[in-house]
Amino acid sequence: MPELPEVEIIKNNLSDYLLDKTFHSIEVFTDKLRYKIPHNLVESIKNKRVIDITRIAKYIIVSLDNNYSLLIHLGMTGNFLIRPKKKSSNDNKHVRLRFTMSDHSEIDYVDIRKFGFFKLIDPQKNELYKLKAKLGPDALSNDFNTRYLQRSLRHRSISIKSALLNQQIVGGVGNIYASEALFRAKIPPTMESKKVAKNKIKTDDLISSIKFILSDAIQVGGSTIRNHKNMEGKSGYFQYKFNVYNRENMECNSENCSSKIKKIVQTGRSTFYCDKCQKMRSR
Ligand SMILES: [Zn+2]
Repeated sequence: MPELPEVEIIKNNLSDYLLDKTFHSIEVFTDKLRYKIPHNLVESIKNKRVIDITRIAKYIIVSLDNNYSLLIHLGMTGNFLIRPKKKSSNDNKHVRLRFTMSDHSEIDYVDIRKFGFFKLIDPQKNELYKLKAKLGPDALSNDFNTRYLQRSLRHRSISIKSALLNQQIVGGVGNIYASEALFRAKIPPTMESKKVAKNKIKTDDLISSIKFILSDAIQVGGSTIRNHKNMEGKSGYFQYKFNVYNRENMECNSENCSSKIKKIVQTGRSTFYCDKCQKMRSR
């Protein structure tokens, strides 16, 4: 499942191919992804120029010169791939939409499980305001800071791990990077959110750990993808070197720690942590 770093990288790749180009033609090969494909999608974007591509949390927004925008979510398995110039008869059978640009490049939206979606944002931008209203600040934005997080967690008794997955608290942190950030900040994933919030230094550590892990993953992923010629290659996803995620029973990577990484389930999602490194006295 793409998390913030993957979405950011896909957004950057997409910018290379779409920015300042015009949608020449759009082919739609499915009625429905997570939602129905908007009936006016093709007519609203055809012959329109892409003027901006941005990301909010795990959403990609493609803005056009007619004040319409495309709101895209990649779901579990969504990705954009450049269609090779040398066409073969056995095209990827999971191509759901195909965009042909003014420079004749063809970009395929591929989605095996069809949980992604495309929505049209009209010039009044209501859809965008609705989205922003239900999302907390983006994890990499300056609005996501210690003061904000202390204020937003101070009355919450849910675990800090569950709080980080709540997109109304912070936009873009998913299951993998929540575990990694808590390990880096040395905070137990089961600790009550309000107890973390009481400790300014720890909240500070958590904020900078989240930003560090996400930026680092973007950088590493970006270079991995460049090496693998992504968007022209097979997959948009990459394996970041995780310290705890998916490392149950393996030795902790911290110096002077030989504990084994533990796995627990919190609100239905797996959490990985080191109970020796991630200790915090509640005050
Ligand atoms: Zn450890």
